[in-house]
Amino acid sequence: MNTHKDGTDLLMRKTIDWHERAAAMTFETRALLGADRIDAVSGKTFPTVSPLSGQHLADIADCDEVDVDRAVARARAAFESRSWSGAHPRLRKQVLHTFADLLLVHKDELALLITLDMGKPISDARREVESSVRELRFFAESVDKVYGDVVPTNDDSFGMMSREPVGVVGAITPWNFPVMMPIYKLGPALATGNSVVFKPAEQASLAALRLASLALEAGLPEGVLGVIPGGPAAGQALALHMDVDVLTFTGSTSVGKKLLTYSGQSNMKAVWLECGGKSPNIVLADAPDLEKAAEFAASAIFHGTGQVCNAGSRLLLDAAIHDEFIEMLIDKSAKFRPMDALDDSSHMGPIVDSEQLDKVVDYIDQGSAEGAQVASGGKRALEESGGYYLEPTIFVDVQPSMSIAREEIFGPVLSTIRINPGDDVVEVANDSMYGLAAAVWTSDLTRAHRLARELKAGTVYVNTYDRGDNSLPFGGYKQSGVGADRSLHALDKYTNMKTTWMDLS
Ligand code: NAD
Repeated sequence: MNTHKDGTDLLMRKTIDWHERAAAMTFETRALLGADRIDAVSGKTFPTVSPLSGQHLADIADCDEVDVDRAVARARAAFESRSWSGAHPRLRKQVLHTFADLLLVHKDELALLITLDMGKPISDARREVESSVRELRFFAESVDKVYGDVVPTNDDSFGMMSREPVGVVGAITPWNFPVMMPIYKLGPALATGNSVVFKPAEQASLAALRLASLALEAGLPEGVLGVIPGGPAAGQALALHMDVDVLTFTGSTSVGKKLLTYSGQSNMKAVWLECGGKSPNIVLADAPDLEKAAEFAASAIFHGTGQVCNAGSRLLLDAAIHDEFIEMLIDKSAKFRPMDALDDSSHMGPIVDSEQLDKVVDYIDQGSAEGAQVASGGKRALEESGGYYLEPTIFVDVQPSMSIAREEIFGPVLSTIRINPGDDVVEVANDSMYGLAAAVWTSDLTRAHRLARELKAGTVYVNTYDRGDNSLPFGGYKQSGVGADRSLHALDKYTNMKTTWMDLS
């Protein structure tokens, strides 16, 4: 065992031949109903292809409305049986900690599934699992810390508010964090005693399907967690279902809007949305350390091949340092040259699939056509691998009205906007339908506080980028979402407040 319980490496890791391990992998491809692995009732499957090579990996059960019905019925029965919802908090806590232990034991296996399925560099995938373990432990520890209120009343009354699990939670996740996004949902939903029916993204179901087996192995009672792999049809059926009480989603803004409609068309279920972003990273001339700012600006957009919701995809650069900074940025971006994602030293893998690659390449063409200049990158890479690699791409001379400054590209493409004297940097930064994250680099404390207050974003970073922790919420303003994951506040989304009045007269 070379890992500590908190996920950190204790010993120097020996080099693993990830290709050799990948060749020996077998995949879980079927839905989870109760304790059973089952095919879709229709018998249909869909193929999953590795973005590392373009090669077919597995055929996965393609669930639809019928499968969703069965999974929801099973989840409802488990909820009503109170095997989980009524279990002692100590037991729920222990099961979730055991689940976290198992994630850690299977860290390399899960990481490999992530990398093969969606292309994240293996070292990032391992960190994703470690971070998911910490997240799950946080929610395991929260189980016995969900309290209600007893309120002041007159002598002949007793009034209290207690929190109850909502019942059946539907969870729909994207492909960019195939383990962490599910844990952001499963952690608080299970901690508060709910049953969950979970639909992973079709581009990256393999790790999610394995994750579910580990939850059962940890002692989660049968039926409390159901997994229905599939595409939009399965997600739509879950969102339209009359017996799903709450829907929790991470994905694009366009699908998030559909889910709100489905809720209105069905049972008015609460819908929690973590959606897209076009986050501004503002570097002012008085940034405390330009070198550091350039390093962070590069990783803010190129980490995860730009397929990260809070990617710093708009760089708002003070004209006084523009040219100097772009040079530094190009230099720092060299770290993110596309590389085999199964190489331990890789920092940037391929784009998730050929469709997304085409979309990103179209944006690059559009940016050039609209008059922006490619300062570096812009071309496909490692084509001989059969994978979907693209160079980290930096645009300069971008105008705020251009499509590459407004739309979420979800690829390794940075749009740099020059901030000239007299420009209102806050106005430029806030000129977006999104409001997920924003960053500002300055040595002026007053200015930092002012900007942090004025930027319309769920998270503002000052002289850093992409910080996060279990203890603070992560959610978006505007069309970046409704509600937030992480922190004790996330528990509110999966509980109903019940008010009880008693007459003591
Ligand atoms: P997506 O919206 O295409 O898909 C997300 C999930 O929704 C998938 O499981 C998909 O099958 C499902 N889906 C698609 N159509 C549906 C429908 N009509 N009804 C129900 N479900 C449906 O997103 P994606 O491409 O998987 O992920 C990328 C997006 O996720 C980006 O926009 C990114 O910003 C966002 N994201 C946001 C956060 C955050 O915390 N805010 C985190 C990660 C990713």
